[in-house]
Formats: sequence, C-alpha cells, structure tokens
Amino acid sequence: MKLTIACVQINSRRASVDANSQRILQLLAACPKVPDVVVLPELAVTGYHYRSRESISPYLDDYAADKLREQQSLPLQGKSLSLAQEISLKYQCFTLMGYPEKSDQHIYNSAVLVAPNGNLLHNYRKSFLYDADYEFGCEENPERGFRAIDIIFDKEYYLNRDPNKTYPATRTNIGICMDLNPYKFEAPFTAWEFANACYQQQATLILCLMAWLSPKSPSIVPNISDADKLGRGHQLERQFFGDNVYAKDHINTEDDHLAMIVETTQNDEADEQLFIPQQPSVSTINYWVLRFFPFLTFGRRQAGHYFDRATVVCCNRVGVEDDVMYTGTSSIFQFGPSPVESIHHDYRNPSVQLRGCMGQGEEGVLIREVAL
Ligand code: GLN
Repeated sequence: MKLTIACVQINSRRASVDANSQRILQLLAACPKVPDVVVLPELAVTGYHYRSRESISPYLDDYAADKLREQQSLPLQGKSLSLAQEISLKYQCFTLMGYPEKSDQHIYNSAVLVAPNGNLLHNYRKSFLYDADYEFGCEENPERGFRAIDIIFDKEYYLNRDPNKTYPATRTNIGICMDLNPYKFEAPFTAWEFANACYQQQATLILCLMAWLSPKSPSIVPNISDADKLGRGHQLERQFFGDNVYAKDHINTEDDHLAMIVETTQNDEADEQLFIPQQPSVSTINYWVLRFFPFLTFGRRQAGHYFDRATVVCCNRVGVEDDVMYTGTSSIFQFGPSPVESIHHDYRNPSVQLRGCMGQGEEGVLIREVAL
C-alpha cells in the first residue's frame, strides 16, 4: 500500500506550547498534499531540555486519563494529545507525536499515535534514555523488548468500516531517539538492540521521533567550560535561529529530491565543519542508516528475506536549547534487496534508498509518498 508521510521538522521552543502548536499547524497547512501519516519529533510541542521535574510538570499529559475521555467523547485535556487529535481530525490522518507523559507519580518520554477518527490508538514509552531524560525525572519504559504493533493504515477502517472486509495490517515499530543507540552508550555498538528487535519481529515500517543532537552541538564539545558551551549555544541561537533569521518554511516534496541527493553527496566532507541550515548533516544520516545494520546488505550478506521494502522515518527537530543544538536532517529511507554485494554501511549502500531529507537548521515538512 502507498502512504503519504509528512515529517514536521520544527524548532520547538521550551515552554512555548501554544506558539509551537500554531507553528506545527501553520507548516502542515502549507503542504501541497494531504498526508496520511503526520510524524512529529520527540517532545514536539513542549520542547525537550527541561532541567528538573518541576520545570516540566506543567506540560505533562496523562494518556490513560485522556484515553478514557476520548472513549466518552469528551475533549482531551493534555495539550500535546489534543493537538495530535486536532491534526488527525483536520486531515483525517494518523498522527504520531512525542510528548512528556505522567502516569501516577511516573514521568515517561512518550509517543502517541492517533487514528484518522481521532481515537488514541497507541502509546509508546521511550525505552533507552538519554542524559537529558534523567534530568527531568523521566523513567524507562517498564516494558522491554521494543514490541512491534500491527497497524491498519487503511483510513476506511476508522472512518467508514465495511464489516465484510478484512483490512491488512502493517507491522510497525516506534522508537524515540536514544532507542536507536546502544543502551546507555554502554552496550556493545553491534548489539543493535532496536534494529534487531524490529528485524526479528519483521517490522516493515519503523517510525522514529527524534531530538537528535548536532555533531556540532556545543554541549558535546570536549575540553571547554560549561560557560563556554552556553556562550556558543547562545551564539548559534542568535546566528541561525533568532527571529526571522531563517524564516522561510521549507516544504520538501518529491521535486526537491534529486537536487538534495546531489548536494548531500557533495557535502560529505564539509559536514563536520560547516553549519549550513539548508543542508542535511550527512554524518547523521549515515549514523542512522548504520544503526539499522541488520537491514543492510553487507558484503555477501543479503538482508531482507522477509521484506521487499522496509521503511524508516526519522523525524527530528532543529534549534538550540541552552548549550544543546539539534541536527534536523529528518529523513525517510527504505531498505530493499540489493542486486550486488556492498561494503558500504551508509546511505551509499545499494540496499538503501534515501527518499529524502531536510536541512539541519530549517523548519518545514518532509513529505513523501512511500510504498510499504
Ligand atoms: N544520543 C542521541 C543524540 O545524540 C539521543 C538524544 C535523545 O535521546 N534525545 O542525539
């Protein structure tokens, strides 16, 4: 089946929930095509880098409570959850959105999936946490193993179900940012925990919500003081993300595709040095592809005997929070069988088709029709 997938790449400003929500709606309204699936980044409308439990607590949504309200046709209370539902109802689409969840006394870094009829279909909690998650008191998903879910993507099933028809489901995995890395950066790099779980469960659609750092993020520059990191963060913010610095919304459609690939290939070397908002971070794309190593044809090893195509969607944010800069580069890539052996473990591998990507500092929407 074919799905039009839209990744909304925004600069989510911390604690500016209403402005972020408006920005998301504005970007979606600028799309030339109505999407079937809207994917938003990790903690999309709240911003990500909260330094304490207290600072994030006004923005936590209670999934279980809102699920009950939804079942009783009552308006949802959570700010993130209600925006996700609003988007789904407006476009009759699926919406996958990262948000901070409260459940009793616990905080999770979660993703909600809303169906085209506004029903809350699924809630996923981030399993592998990053330093920033611990700072706001976030806990690991108590369920281990990255369980896949079967999703019926035929909208008719939700909007006008035919009881005599069977609707095929797509085996889907959801991951949130650090889920793609080795557990706590301590597990062996080649344990490929997330990718192996997706592969073993035979997922063909993998949706990843990111607040992925730029390789140029001041927070990870070695041997400089915290004050210097913060100073660099402020400078990057002013230079690239201040009001109207790069105001143009970029709606990245199929037409941009070839130009993008050429640019990408040419800029591999410059990637680590320069920050050009319109260009993707090639090293980030390559790292994401590598983290799906089990799906790659490598050497003589032909992967993919259970799929013709496996689709990975990475929706990341842009911008700066304190000394942390995010890398944008939201991407859609597909793994397929490769007619030839390959020793590349990046997007140049012939079993990888990079369908499109955004720049590392631009706000906009990456929109592609993909055959699952
Ligand atoms: N390690 C990842 C990164 O470098 C994870 C960040 C996250 O989980 N938000 O961006």
